[in-house]
Amino acid sequence: ENRFESAIKNKEFVAYFQPKYDVKTERITGAESLVRWINPDGSMVMPGDFIPLYEKDGLIVKLDEYIFRYVCEFQRDLMEKGQELIPISVNLSRTSIHHSDIVERYMKIVEENGIPFSCVPVELTETATLNNVMIRDFTEKLVNVGFALHMDDFGSGYSSLTSLNELNFSAVKLDKSLIDYIDQVRGKKIVQQAIDLGHGLDMKVVAEGVESKEQKDCLKEMHCDMIQGFYYSKPLKEED
Ligand code: C2E
Ligand code: MG
Ligand code: MG
Repeated sequence: ENRFESAIKNKEFVAYFQPKYDVKTERITGAESLVRWINPDGSMVMPGDFIPLYEKDGLIVKLDEYIFRYVCEFQRDLMEKGQELIPISVNLSRTSIHHSDIVERYMKIVEENGIPFSCVPVELTETATLNNVMIRDFTEKLVNVGFALHMDDFGSGYSSLTSLNELNFSAVKLDKSLIDYIDQVRGKKIVQQAIDLGHGLDMKVVAEGVESKEQKDCLKEMHCDMIQGFYYSKPLKEED
C-alpha cells in the first residue's frame, strides 16, 4: 500500500497478455490482460499477492483503470501501425461498481484513444455479497455504452445462475476448477451442460486453465468456442 503511488508513477505495473485460441481453427482470436508488478530490481509480483489487499482498501479501482488505459493505448498503437485488432479483455474488480462514474471514465478512455469498444471487453466476477440491483444497473450501463461483458470464473463458487439470467453477458468463462475434472464422468457432464447453457443463452464459451491436449480435445468435441490456458500459452510480455 505504501508503495502503490510510486509504483504507478514509475510504471511498475504492466499488463501481460494471455492469448485465447479459437477451438476450431486453433488461431488466436482474443487475449486477456493480467496485471504484473515489476519491481525496480526486475523481480515480478503476481496479482494474487496484492489484489486481495487492494480490493479491501479500494486501491484496486485506481489500478484497474490504470490497466484499462494501458490496454486501450496498446490497442491504439496497434491500430496506428495498421495491425488487425483482436479483443483484449480487462478484469474489473467488483469494488469498482460502487463508483458510479466508472462507466463514464472508461468510456472516455476508449473515445480518447479512438478505438472500438469491441476491442476491450470487460471481465466481471460475481460475488455473493453483491447488491443485485446495483450490479444490474452498472452492467446495463456498461453494455449500453458499447462494452462487451464477459462473466469470469463461472463455476468457481461465486458466479451464480441468477446473474447469468439477469445480466447481459456475451461470453462466459468456465473456471479452471471445472476444467480440472473434465476427465471424470460427472465432471465432463457438468462442463458439457455448462457449455450448452452458455450457447442456449447466445453466449460464447471460453474454457480457462486448459493445460493438456486431452482437455483441449475433449472441449473441442463439446463445441466449446475458445480456450485460454498453458496448453497453448502462458500470459506473455507485450512484445511477445
Ligand atoms: P482470472 O481473471 O481468472 O485470470 C486467469 C488466471 O489463471 C491468471 O492468473 C492466469 O495466469 C491463470 N491461468 C491461465 N491459464 C492457466 C493454466 O492453464 N493453468 C494455471 N494453473 N493457471 C492458468 P494470474 O495472472 O495470476 O491472475 C489471477 C487473478 O488475478 C485473475 O484471475 C484475476 O481475477 C486477478 N487479476 C489479474 N489482473 C487483474 C487486473 O488487472 N484487475 C483485477 N481486478 N484483477 C486482476
Ligand atoms: Mg479474468
Ligand atoms: Mg477466470
